[in-house]
Amino acid sequence: MHIAAPRTALVIGAGIMGLSAAWALARAGVAVRVLDQDPVPNPRGSSHDDHRLIRHAYGAEAGYMRMIDPAHAAWDLLFDEAGSRPYVQTGVLALSNAPGGWLEASRLALRADGHAVSDLPAAEVAARYPFLSPEGLADAFHLAPGGVLLASRILAALVEVLARRGITVGRARAAAVDPDRGSATLADGTRLSADLLVVAAGPWALRLLPGRAATMRPARQVVVRLAPPDHAAPGWAAAPMLLDLAEDGGFYAVPPVAGTPLKIGDHRFGPTVDPDAPRDASPEEIEAILALARHRIRGLAGYRILSAAACWYDVAPGERFAVEPIGAQGIVMTGFTGHGFKFGALLGLALARAAGDPALLAGLGPWAAGIAAPPPQLLSDLARDPTA
Ligand SMILES: Cc1cc2nc3c(=O)[nH]c(=O)nc-3n(C[C@H](O)[C@H](O)[C@H](O)COP(=O)(O)OP(=O)(O)OC[C@H]3O[C@@H](n4cnc5c(N)ncnc54)[C@H](O)[C@@H]3O)c2cc1C
Repeated sequence: MHIAAPRTALVIGAGIMGLSAAWALARAGVAVRVLDQDPVPNPRGSSHDDHRLIRHAYGAEAGYMRMIDPAHAAWDLLFDEAGSRPYVQTGVLALSNAPGGWLEASRLALRADGHAVSDLPAAEVAARYPFLSPEGLADAFHLAPGGVLLASRILAALVEVLARRGITVGRARAAAVDPDRGSATLADGTRLSADLLVVAAGPWALRLLPGRAATMRPARQVVVRLAPPDHAAPGWAAAPMLLDLAEDGGFYAVPPVAGTPLKIGDHRFGPTVDPDAPRDASPEEIEAILALARHRIRGLAGYRILSAAACWYDVAPGERFAVEPIGAQGIVMTGFTGHGFKFGALLGLALARAAGDPALLAGLGPWAAGIAAPPPQLLSDLARDPTA
């Protein structure tokens, strides 16, 4: 039985999920303590990178598609408090060499909910985006909304917003948690407790919650940062995010917005690897990413490789998030796979709203898993004009 209206909270993990939960709980008047094993913003965390994408196109996953407008509203709330807006709208370009599949499922779901989707013939793709090859294209669409969340700047803004509220992220590793008692035992043996324990440990979650091994695996993902040649640079500077879906792979590209580099990565899930492993990417891993993009980005050999690194997903079955009660005084935030960042502020606000309210808590998990509408009142603070 969760404590009604918690007055104190202990948050383990200060990635986007832990920081957002801490911010939202503090807004709700809860006295919050946040701990991370590493300095924060944490370069080893899944949340730390130049960019994370936000888009309505979600295949047949209408639940997550419908969380996008509230997610934007949640970011607006945070950005207003931070006094900065680390977001660049780019729009979305989705391409595929095969008809049907994810593009068609997205198109149907989007149109059913009244979103404007512009279908693009291959010749139009070639005309608008001369740095891309239309060869083999079977399907393409463009969406005007959607863009790039400047992830590490958002983490820094959250740390700053928390500091203004008198909350400093402490440096300590939790060695064990007891969600039934709202407590954590730190590596130095200190025991801390609160009315509510939030476990937001990213790809390290299984160290604290080994019983969840069937519902999460840490997966190593490689990204490559590139500088386009001079002739292609202006095109990329105004480019939408690119989702290139192929039967045998596919890649995504984040355009070089706001002083960040062009970045490409793999849609598929990488191997299960301990999240303490080094972040360096090998030449073979870099080549594997470039190989996915070579058919689509013209003259890729002329692009300069700036850097490459591995980052970890916490992969969950069906890519469904777990934001749900554990024990009598705990809530876990895990399983964000490769698509959680965009919902960070929203999930934090929803967690804070639901904490201590049995009806809202019961609906929080299914909504966060993308399989149910939010319970009434969960998002009532976040009405936003979807056309804005
Ligand atoms: C390459 C890549 C691309 C992605 N692209 C997108 C995208 O375009 N759009 C999108 O929405 N999402 C994307 N994601 C997913 C998104 O980044 C993650 O879902 C999200 O950042 C997860 O945040 P988190 O707070 O759960 O984890 P983290 O950021 O990893 O934070 C967890 C924190 O917990 C701390 N911690 C762990 N164990 C302990 C302990 N025992 N004691 C104390 N502290 C502890 C860690 O040090 C860490 O700082 C991408 C992820 C990757 C890797």
